Amino acid sequence: MQMPKVMLVDDEVPFVETMKKRLEKRNLNIVTAFSGEEALDTLGSNRDTDVVILDVKMPGMDGIETLREIKAKFPLIEVIMLTGHATIESAIEGMKIGAFDYLMKPCEVEQLMAKVQQATNKKREHEKRIRDARAKEALFKHGLA
Ligand SMILES: [Mg+2]
Repeated sequence: MQMPKVMLVDDEVPFVETMKKRLEKRNLNIVTAFSGEEALDTLGSNRDTDVVILDVKMPGMDGIETLREIKAKFPLIEVIMLTGHATIESAIEGMKIGAFDYLMKPCEVEQLMAKVQQATNKKREHEKRIRDARAKEALFKHGLA
């Protein structure tokens, strides 16, 4: 499988930098953003992103608002919410509006890797189904099916 491309979004700069290094060691392609606004900007030029790991609690645009925008603009990208105990309600709300799953902070790299892999698999399958449907539609249009 092609290496997953992941965007890490969190206002805690040291967390993002440490996690980026750890995930790159495991052969993930990592893009970072430190706010919801920056995440949306950066996604615009990184449309091949598979998974966004999104902090719930950020100043400015919070995780839920950012999630809504991501899902509206890039519906195929899977989102994993990152939350502390205090904001678990928001993470659950996030899952109701389309997040793939959530992780509690502080989280283990292995846990994160496993979720990223699951989310990437889901996205790739989804994309395959869309491609298959397009191919069928094309055959039908040309009277071949
Ligand atoms: Mg935060």
